Amino acid sequence: MALFDFFDGGKKAQLLNGKEIAERIKGEIKREVGELKKEGITPGLAVVLVGNDPASKTYVNMKSKACKEVGIFSLVHRLPQSIRTDDLIEVIKTLNNSPKIHGILVQLPLPKHIETSRVLEAIAVEKDVDGFHPYNMGKLVEGLEGFVPCTPLGVVELLDRYQLSVKGKDVCIVGASNIVGKPMWGLLVNRFATVDICHIYTRDLREHTRRADILIVGVGKAGLITEDMVKDGAVVIDIGINRKGDRLVGDVDFDRVARKASYITPVPGGVGPMTIAMLLKNTLRATKLIHKVAE
Ligand code: NAD
Repeated sequence: MALFDFFDGGKKAQLLNGKEIAERIKGEIKREVGELKKEGITPGLAVVLVGNDPASKTYVNMKSKACKEVGIFSLVHRLPQSIRTDDLIEVIKTLNNSPKIHGILVQLPLPKHIETSRVLEAIAVEKDVDGFHPYNMGKLVEGLEGFVPCTPLGVVELLDRYQLSVKGKDVCIVGASNIVGKPMWGLLVNRFATVDICHIYTRDLREHTRRADILIVGVGKAGLITEDMVKDGAVVIDIGINRKGDRLVGDVDFDRVARKASYITPVPGGVGPMTIAMLLKNTLRATKLIHKVAE
């Protein structure tokens, strides 16, 4: 992009500042954790990390650090890459029975030889702070209270904090994974949006994206969403995280799309920090439910 493009005086979308909102939410959580501690209750999160994947290690460190910031007790179970599914399930059963632990998170992806669905199903539903247990997924689809996966929950929280209603809006989600796109769909349908969900086999992606009042992208392909794929004035939420040299970028061509959208999330500093804030929020909620403290 030519230098003058940055100074063309044209319209520019408002940033949806996930980093700032997440800090505010962490402040709220810290206060509530302080109140619980006065009653002798310390929320506890167990993170299970299998193997040596560097990205997984980074995410786990970020989660532990965030717990510390708000006063949530956290421990990380580091398990060898070679662990068998049954042995991993035994670790989870121990955590299910631990009174110090209110939330259990298994960092994904797990090594290929492990049966991920069996592992996720082994987590006690009341400690399933990632919301990946089929019971909680089912609750989400039915519009009932349960634990909702942190990334889509972070997206709706961000929209709420900017008072951007989804009711009656045409929303397009690009990416249909179990952890991002599908629960995102559930949350939005429950909030009365009209939702279109696209994936790798969608025939003409642009046809779908350009109709959207709100475009939510979680694929993992830098530059997938270009300016011509976005409706004028759309709200654009970029969930993607891609490494480009030594920096992180999303799935959206940020600089150009920002001139067409009304609101846009940056990467980094958008959905990522909101995801972590929602993990803390879910852990606090699990603690209150387990200890029967009014919400
Ligand atoms: P995934 O690989 O499980 O799923 C990707 C989805 O994108 C699939 O549904 C696939 O069909 C679809 N897809 C792939 N290529 C496509 C194309 N060309 N056009 C349309 N759809 C296409 O990935 P995931 O775990 O859901 O993660 C997606 C992205 O979101 C990654 O970049 C990941 O790092 C990021 N992510 C970010 C956060 C966060 O907190 N910000 C959390 C989770 C995932």
